[in-house]
Amino acid sequence: MSHRVLIIGSGPAAHTAAIYAARAELKPVLFEGFLAGGVAAGGQLTTTTDVENFPGFPEGIMGPDLTERFRAQSERFGTTIHTETVNEVDLSSRPFHFKADTQEGTAQTIIIATGATAKRLDIPGASDGELWQKGISACAVCDGALPAFRNQPLAVIGGGDSAVEEATFLTKYGSPVYIVHRRDELRASKIMQHRALTNSKIEMLWSHVVTEAKGKDFLEAIRVKDLKTDEERDVPVAGLFFAIGHTPNTAFLNGQIDTDEQGYIITKPDSTATNVPGVFAAGDAQDKKWRQAVTAAGTGCMAALEAEHFLTAQG
Ligand code: FAD
Ligand code: NDP
Repeated sequence: MSHRVLIIGSGPAAHTAAIYAARAELKPVLFEGFLAGGVAAGGQLTTTTDVENFPGFPEGIMGPDLTERFRAQSERFGTTIHTETVNEVDLSSRPFHFKADTQEGTAQTIIIATGATAKRLDIPGASDGELWQKGISACAVCDGALPAFRNQPLAVIGGGDSAVEEATFLTKYGSPVYIVHRRDELRASKIMQHRALTNSKIEMLWSHVVTEAKGKDFLEAIRVKDLKTDEERDVPVAGLFFAIGHTPNTAFLNGQIDTDEQGYIITKPDSTATNVPGVFAAGDAQDKKWRQAVTAAGTGCMAALEAEHFLTAQG
């Protein structure tokens, strides 16, 4: 039998959609992914510590705890959850066909809430088999506590909220923590900027880029270039963390849904509808502007309500 609502993803967008669809008695089936896009089920919030801006938690809540609560709430209202990645969909006719790791099936509507994955910088020395995961990471929260980073100089690349958050987190372990940013002003929100600029353990390398990662078996230094003077020099560091943005997890759609040039799903104005009737998109997979847990949750709610209206209209 065809599912009425298939939800692909497991962050705040997917689980909010599941809560609404389950309470509308649509018996949603949610595929939460198995390290899909390199992210644990639960999504990007599993890679962070304190979430202080999600309403309802005045003291803040740890990212993984919040995602556990989302999941528990989806299950409580009857969502069926599979810990598998959806690898293929065929959207050419309804019901839509999908293939996951060990099973396949059909669905009347699909909500895509596959989020986004942290980008890596392609510089000499930083690839798999070189120093990647030997001092180089894209997740300070996951890897920052390694003994090799204790009391050592560390570096974070980027100028957004993630870069500031990662750098602040890393000051618990190492010092100084350089933020290497290609411009001379941060993209991060004002409160995060203030946090970075007033932390005595954080040192800004404004208008600098990292051109190479150096070390034998583990990272020993980064080569940085001052974009204003073109001067290059080595900066000794034991850890390098990328915080340079994200790529939407939409490649598995294989071009069947309209996206922009970066792969973000295009939705209709004031809607989560895509170019394929019956397919809706929510969260960071379709949002490159706001990218917050609460906005992802908001569009997840919209997608479930729109899927319900679509099914009703189809009889
Ligand atoms: P995501 O959280 O990206 O989750 C998508 C999930 O879907 C992933 O688990 C992925 O594995 C899974 N998936 C992908 N492809 C498939 C597939 N084919 N099949 C099945 N599953 C799949 N926002 C805030 O509001 N406050 C914060 O404090 C905050 N801190 C952050 C800290 C960090 C380090 C980062 C990286 C982000 C932070 N954000 C924060 C942003 C917030 O995490 C995201 O906006 C939000 O998680 C996006 O939710 P989402 O539902 O779109 O998907
Ligand atoms: P952003 O896209 O906001 O920032 C990416 C940063 O990386 C930018 O400063 C960008 O530089 C830089 N960058 C991009 N590509 C390169 C490159 N090739 N070389 C060098 N630098 C590069 O991503 P974030 O991950 O920081 O944030 C994503 C979303 O998650 C945001 O909406 C943010 O608000 C949210 N978030 C919220 C948090 C919170 O509220 N506590 C914590 C973390 C994230 P440039 O500025 O020049 O473009």
